[in-house]
Amino acid sequence: MNELEYLLNIDINYIAIGLIAVFFTLEQILSNQFSFKERGKHFWNSFLFQILFFVGNLFWAGVAVFSIEWLNQQEIGLFYLIELPLWAKLILGILTLDLATYWFHRLSHRMPVLWRFHRVHHSDTTLDSSSYFRSHPIEVLFWFGSTPILVAGIFGLDLIVIGFYYLVLTPFLVLEHSNLRFPAWMEKTFGLIFTTPNLHKIHHDQDQHFTDSNYADIFIFWDRLFGTYRYKPVDQVRLGLKEFDEESKQYFWYLVKSPFIRIEREN
Ligand SMILES: [Zn+2]
Ligand SMILES: [Zn+2]
Repeated sequence: MNELEYLLNIDINYIAIGLIAVFFTLEQILSNQFSFKERGKHFWNSFLFQILFFVGNLFWAGVAVFSIEWLNQQEIGLFYLIELPLWAKLILGILTLDLATYWFHRLSHRMPVLWRFHRVHHSDTTLDSSSYFRSHPIEVLFWFGSTPILVAGIFGLDLIVIGFYYLVLTPFLVLEHSNLRFPAWMEKTFGLIFTTPNLHKIHHDQDQHFTDSNYADIFIFWDRLFGTYRYKPVDQVRLGLKEFDEESKQYFWYLVKSPFIRIEREN
C-alpha cells in the first residue's frame, strides 16, 4: 500500500489545481458545451474563492485531523467491531462518505439558512472546470470539517480511508463542472452508477424541479434510490439562478456577501 500512502501524502489542493489546469486547457481546445465570453474574469471570480478556502482550511483541516485521530484512538465506530481488509474499508468508506454528502447536499437545498451559502455555487451562469472552486468558504469549511468527522465517528473511518475518498472525489468534481461536450450514451452506461458531467449540469439548471435533483457527487444511484434522480437533455439546461442572473451579481465580493442578503428565490 506504499503507492496509496504516497498518493495520500499529496495535498488534495495540488491535485485539484493540476486537474483544473488540464481541463481548463482542454476547454480552450475542444468544443464547449456552453458558450461564454469573459472566461478570464469567470476564472478569477472562482479562483478567489479557492484562496479564501485555502486560508480557512489551514485551521479547519487541523481540527478535523485532530478529531478523527482522537476517534480512531478510542476505536469509536462500526468498522472497529468487525475485521475488514483494507480494500473493503476503502470501498465502504467511499460509499458511506458519498451517502453522507448526498444527504447534506439535499439538506442544503431544503434548509433556507444552508441554501443561502449553497446558492453561491448554483449562481454560476457559465460553468467550467474552475466552477469547482466556486463555493462559499463558510459552506465548504462547514461540510469539509463536519462530514468526515461525523462519518468517521459513526463508521470508524481512518485518515487513509478519508484521504482516499478525496482522491477519488476530486476528479469527479472537476469533470462534472467542465465545459466540454460529453456524449449522451454516458448516461446510459456510467450514468447508471456514477454521476456523469451531464447529470451534474442538470443539477445546475435554473428550473427548481431540476435544481433539486441529482445531488450525489460520485454515485448517482443514491438519487435513483431516494427518488431525486431527474433527466433532461443537457442542451436544454439553462445554468444558474434567476435571482443571480444580472452581471453585477456574478462578482466575487457580491457572492461572498450574498448569504447575508435577503434574496427571494425566483422560478
Ligand atoms: Zn446543489
Ligand atoms: Zn456543481
